[in-house]
Amino acid sequence: MKNYRQFYIDGQWIDSVHACDFTVENPSTEQLIGVISLGSSDDVDIAVAAARRAFASYAQTSREARIALLEQLLAVYIDRCDEMAEAISLEMGAPIDFAIEDQAYCGRGHIEAALMALKTFEFKQKRQNATIVREPIGVCGFITPWNWPINQISCKVAPALATGCTMLLKPSEIAPLSAQIFSEMIHQAGIPAGVYNMIHGDGPGVGTAISCHPDIDMVSFTGSTRAGRAVSHSAAESIKRVTLELGGKSPNIIFEDVDLEATVARGVNDCMENVGQSCNAPTRMLVPSQLYTEAVAYAVKAASAIAVGRADQPGAHIGPLVSRLQYNKVQDLIQTGIEEGARLVVGGLGKPEGFETGHFTKPTVFADVDNQMTIAREEVFGPVLVMIPFDSEQQAIDLANDTPYGLAAYVNSNNEALVDRVTSQLRAGMVRVNGASHLFSSPFGGYKQSGNGREWGAFGFDDYLEIKAISGGG
Ligand code: NAD
Repeated sequence: MKNYRQFYIDGQWIDSVHACDFTVENPSTEQLIGVISLGSSDDVDIAVAAARRAFASYAQTSREARIALLEQLLAVYIDRCDEMAEAISLEMGAPIDFAIEDQAYCGRGHIEAALMALKTFEFKQKRQNATIVREPIGVCGFITPWNWPINQISCKVAPALATGCTMLLKPSEIAPLSAQIFSEMIHQAGIPAGVYNMIHGDGPGVGTAISCHPDIDMVSFTGSTRAGRAVSHSAAESIKRVTLELGGKSPNIIFEDVDLEATVARGVNDCMENVGQSCNAPTRMLVPSQLYTEAVAYAVKAASAIAVGRADQPGAHIGPLVSRLQYNKVQDLIQTGIEEGARLVVGGLGKPEGFETGHFTKPTVFADVDNQMTIAREEVFGPVLVMIPFDSEQQAIDLANDTPYGLAAYVNSNNEALVDRVTSQLRAGMVRVNGASHLFSSPFGGYKQSGNGREWGAFGFDDYLEIKAISGGG
């Protein structure tokens, strides 16, 4: 079992103030693979003081100096990308090929996107008699989840470094290995001491200490809506900026003019990717009533073809859920779906055959789902798709918007006028048409209870900048 007990503060690896061990599990085997120390508010105080000291000089660095640092970080990241993928695969169960091609690749994508944005970003503008300057907000606190661990970390750290902020990261205690390697990379890349700091810990401990800290200027949180609400409460006293990237229950609207089998299959695979543990997963498939029976049959075929397997095995299978807690939560929601009268057409309760150990779950599809059922309203965060019929374009839009969330929406049609009409009425931060990719340079974030910030690329800089108006002057 590896020892990851130290924290990265002020350019050094140091022990926690109080010892508090927490073990990390491999979700494929349920074996313990490492031990971290859960930090406390005393550790947070030390890290914030280091970040505050570093801010005085780092905030004054030139664009060119920050470009050079990000380029150094990118080179180190590319060099150690496979190691990052192995850590992610081990800590949260992403199959190794997916960990290399998608999970670890995100880190590179966000550093590159921040670099591209930094090269042309306008930090200064003239407006009549005023010069409008955009300045780094100060010391930032980052709280991140386990489901796309390095994606969430890098899409906060890269823009913060680009804009001249200093920071303290608390990664998920469930997936801390990727953060450990990322912190080593930061050191290797020569990021000045104190600019980036990392403390392991849980939500109530380090998470709350960051949210309420009077000397942290902003908190960027990614995780559940429940914890996002708690962060907002803790942060209120110090009036700091809080940006939230929360959960989703995204609709996937399929209109009748598309290749139904291919579109349903893509929707099923997108929903099950990462074992359904993605905030933007298209978990509610909306299908025209007249094509519903056919679409359900295609969904059964596609879900039945999804293989399940251990994370260390190469291939295009899905791995285990991250933890026993997550497995139990998904089982409970499947049970609720059955009790509330949804028709289970594939998958269901229990583990797939041959998987007694590990948090493996069956790819599951429910048909005849009413949008008011629990499985249509709550984020399952597992490989569970619900299929809902609609009778008109307006009903499809109403069903899509009838959710407390508003993160993503998926629209499938070759009729451009229809696509324009529908996308303009969807209350979601990200709409993907006919399976188009969401690029690292596009803003990532949601409406309603999916959050309030926008990350990624140039749009992600705004969260880290204050605006100063200098009237008169040069
Ligand atoms: P979580 O909310 O349980 O934990 C996320 C992070 O918050 C962890 O670091 C945790 O330690 C910390 N935390 C927990 N309680 C806290 C508190 N009271 N105060 C401060 N910090 C606290 O979420 P999770 O289970 O790790 O991740 C899954 C959730 O994240 C899902 O709801 C998913 O939709 C969401 N998510 C959203 C996005 C997005 O960009 N919108 C991206 C990925 C994941």
